[in-house]
Amino acid sequence: MTPVRAKENFLIFGSPLIEEAEIEEVVACLRSGWIGTGPRVAHFEADFAAYKGVPQAVALNSCTAALHLSFLVANLQPGDEVITTPLTFCATVNAIIHAGATPVLADVDPLTMNIDPNEIERRITPHTRAIAPVHFAGRACDMDAIMSIAQKHNLKVIEDCAHAIETEYKGRKAGTFGDFGCFSFYSTKNIVTGEGGMVLAKRDEDIARLKVLGLHGMSKDAWKRFGDEGFKHYQVVECGFKYNMMDMQAALGIHQLKRVDAYWQRRSQIWQRYMDTFRNLPIGLPALVEENIRHAYHLFTILIDKEKTGVTRDEFLDRMTANGIGVGVHYLSLPEHPYYQQTFGWKPEDYPNAMRIGRQIVSLPISAKLTDQDRQDVIAAVKASLAKQ
Ligand SMILES: *Cc1c(COP(=O)(O)O)cnc(C)c1O
Repeated sequence: MTPVRAKENFLIFGSPLIEEAEIEEVVACLRSGWIGTGPRVAHFEADFAAYKGVPQAVALNSCTAALHLSFLVANLQPGDEVITTPLTFCATVNAIIHAGATPVLADVDPLTMNIDPNEIERRITPHTRAIAPVHFAGRACDMDAIMSIAQKHNLKVIEDCAHAIETEYKGRKAGTFGDFGCFSFYSTKNIVTGEGGMVLAKRDEDIARLKVLGLHGMSKDAWKRFGDEGFKHYQVVECGFKYNMMDMQAALGIHQLKRVDAYWQRRSQIWQRYMDTFRNLPIGLPALVEENIRHAYHLFTILIDKEKTGVTRDEFLDRMTANGIGVGVHYLSLPEHPYYQQTFGWKPEDYPNAMRIGRQIVSLPISAKLTDQDRQDVIAAVKASLAKQ
């Protein structure tokens, strides 16, 4: 069979749209000689804070760094437990572990694929200190329920918003519910800086501590060291990390952020087209978007159940690839991985919804870069990959 797309024309999954304005800005940044943390980072932080409607945001070199620092600033102690979802990227739990706490999983709702508040309640112990919801694929978690559990048990909330830059819940923006909100600008995310992250925090003192910990633990005036206000000595007040964003990254982010809504619009059209076209195929589709949320449309996921399709998920992945379409798996549930099995005794069967989803799920390309032809090719490849061969 001839593939939908020839090898030379392979559609790379999650390929970002990079435009002239950011290319010129990176060049201008290089010519300026100021490539480290400087004015462009400050500019990007201010723009991102304005986009989120909050006074301050701290740019870091990844969302993983943002999560790690958030868990540290939440003052977790050894033995403290943080409840999160099994259907997330490993960075969410690794950050909890690096902060010295113990991750505890609560299974997801089978339809929304987000952490199920009833499961959170079930996992609460006297050691629970925080909840880390992940707005999976860009769909807002049930924040009313989560915030009310947090209030009742006096828990911190750290939102993993890696998929959720544009997400809203009842008109309020993701990342502004919890004590901390963490964002990613990794190359496949909705807006990109190559590598990069941003963190929001409710309290000024937390913002200050995030800045200190993100730059070696140097006293907060150290950030001003990058300015031209004269020589400043710094003091090391904590054992911090090298997590600062640099201006070359922010140069990309400043212009990407200006198009965040245009890109969202484009992905929302592709999403709708996929929903309409795939309706009659024997595959699982994302749940309809709830009326009270704004979905970020970061991932378009389908479920391949061999009983219905006659093809296994992994065969389907191979067939899509052979048809010239890059696909992703977000995610095998975390208990499928040996490290967590060995360290925490996690078993996939204990989180049956995440296990089943993780074994059936496939992410299709939905980046703003897709042309109409690309979108048609994805659709043709899905049909071809499901057909009897
Ligand atoms: C991408 C991602 C991260 C990590 O983001 P980085 O910026 O690559 O560190 C964390 N959590 C989730 C859910 C992600 O998708």
